[in-house]
Amino acid sequence: MSKFLINKYNSLTPYTPGEQPNDKRYVKLNTNESPYPPSRATMAALWSARSLNLYSDPECVHLRSVLAERYGVSPENVFVSNGSDEILSFSFMAFCGNEVEAVFPDITYGFYKVFGDLYGVTYTQVPLQSDFTVNVSDYIGVHKTVVIANPNAPTGLMLSVDDIERIVASNLTNAVIIDEAYIDFAGAGASCVELTHKYDNLLVVRTFSKSRSLAGARLGYAIGSVGIINTLNTIKYSTNPYNVNTLTQAAGAAAIEDDDYYAECAYKIISERERMKRLLRERGFEVTDSRANFLFAKPCFILGEEYYRKLKENGVLVRWFSTQKIRDYVRITVGTPEQTDTLLRATDMIQSK
Ligand SMILES: *Cc1c(COP(=O)(O)O)cnc(C)c1O
Repeated sequence: MSKFLINKYNSLTPYTPGEQPNDKRYVKLNTNESPYPPSRATMAALWSARSLNLYSDPECVHLRSVLAERYGVSPENVFVSNGSDEILSFSFMAFCGNEVEAVFPDITYGFYKVFGDLYGVTYTQVPLQSDFTVNVSDYIGVHKTVVIANPNAPTGLMLSVDDIERIVASNLTNAVIIDEAYIDFAGAGASCVELTHKYDNLLVVRTFSKSRSLAGARLGYAIGSVGIINTLNTIKYSTNPYNVNTLTQAAGAAAIEDDDYYAECAYKIISERERMKRLLRERGFEVTDSRANFLFAKPCFILGEEYYRKLKENGVLVRWFSTQKIRDYVRITVGTPEQTDTLLRATDMIQSK
């Protein structure tokens, strides 16, 4: 750390993104990107986007109206951002602090804790149950700002809409932030976005990074009450009004309009997830019933860290977390059938040695 850094940030531990190595070509199953490229229409939209000599539209009018129509809300209920991480950042800034505590699971998306620390938030990390599920009653009437990834990461497990509603309805004096980064892999009826019509304290956060093949474009969106969305706008206009660039706005709108293509991609990934789960279980792995585009798996013949390391030596990248509770597991992104086959060949080789 530089000697110029102010004391407040002395003990900051930043988020560690998954590796993006350039030393050789890997089968990359470590950061939950889509193995499928953006659709032709999405790429074509880049060329017809307005000229880059002008600033991007700070209100993202077209993109927000396309999202609003797709998800059955008004444009005033939609916020877009430079990746959904930015929405989470703004939400911790706006809805959590010293006087308003935050609460989230101990095993979940690592950024929640990082934002909590960055903004000096008092927070509680509630232990998951031994089967890695969230215990709903831990979040009932807590009168804290609740943050839950649903499906959760890296477990892939999720709560029902009814359970989410119980949490939202019992914390009406606080914001409840539901991070639906993986919702498009969870099947019909899994999203709680409909509840935003009924509860003004609910914010549903989504991303184009996973199911819409646009991780590199950096685009996230959130749906919530006009009050919550206006608050996010206040933070945005106080930090970076042009947070979503022109090319990304164009690609994002086209990606929503080309829904069939991305639904087909999600369908392929869901089918492949189920096949990969079966094949790993046949090899003795413990695998959760993930509803996301990754599996959370514990090998039976080797330590999690060693499995991760040996796969990497064999050109396959997966994600391993050193956290005590989950250090026996790895998180494996679901890619193409060919990528699964490569993973399994490497696994069989490691196991037979
Ligand atoms: C990937 C992920 C995000 C971040 O997505 P970006 O839009 O790429 O910033 C947020 N939450 C969860 C749970 C994720 O897995």
